[in-house]
Amino acid sequence: MSQTLTPTPERILANLREVTGRIAAAAGRAGRDRDAVRVVAVTKTVGVEAIRMLVGAGQTDIGENRAQQIRDRSREFEGTAVRWHMIGRLQRNKVKYVVPVCAMIHSVDSLPLAEEIAQRATAAGAAATCLLEVNVAGEDRKAGVAPDDAVRLAERAAALEGIDLAGLMTMAPLVDDPETVRPVFAALRELMERINREADLPRPLTDLSMGMTQDYEVAVEEGATIVRIGSALFR
Ligand SMILES: *Cc1c(COP(=O)(O)O)cnc(C)c1O
Repeated sequence: MSQTLTPTPERILANLREVTGRIAAAAGRAGRDRDAVRVVAVTKTVGVEAIRMLVGAGQTDIGENRAQQIRDRSREFEGTAVRWHMIGRLQRNKVKYVVPVCAMIHSVDSLPLAEEIAQRATAAGAAATCLLEVNVAGEDRKAGVAPDDAVRLAERAAALEGIDLAGLMTMAPLVDDPETVRPVFAALRELMERINREADLPRPLTDLSMGMTQDYEVAVEEGATIVRIGSALFR
């Protein structure tokens, strides 16, 4: 991923304010508490300097989609309040890079992956907080478990010592009009409710990681508790 953008601290602060304002408005429209939505700032297209600016502006949740990038960047922020989120496709042989440093892994989509995470986390002495990535729209090239397989995977992943299964994540198809993907977000919320009814879980799922720059307001209206925002912060 190219790192061509060099936003100023002022721009980043203004962009963060704009995003949180829009989230508050969307939450209000849906009768939700604005504090129930957390922003993960996705920094895969910007340099470490931009992350420092975000942190300076009070942003603590930072998302990356590559395992080595999280490992390398987290070293630069040791001792800070930064909470790292792994949001991209995760190969089993790279789990060792992310488990020690991530606050949350959003992209668990198979039992073998969950087992590897569980093993690494148990060895490190702490459960890894995870979300199941669901391919709601059924797009061929998208990562994620099929909705019909999610109940069983949730039950089996949540039963692993070393996994704290907190909720679900999805990526909506790229569209021009965010209203088009409202049913995708509604379906993820309904799937979480179904899993909580049908699966035998140590604790109910509560987190919905859904919505990015193109569609986060709709996602918040549909129940997102985590939005993953990249480009809107760096323009
Ligand atoms: C890049 C990325 C985002 C952020 O996308 P923007 O359109 O830049 O807001 C969110 N989620 C995932 C999984 C991503 O890879």
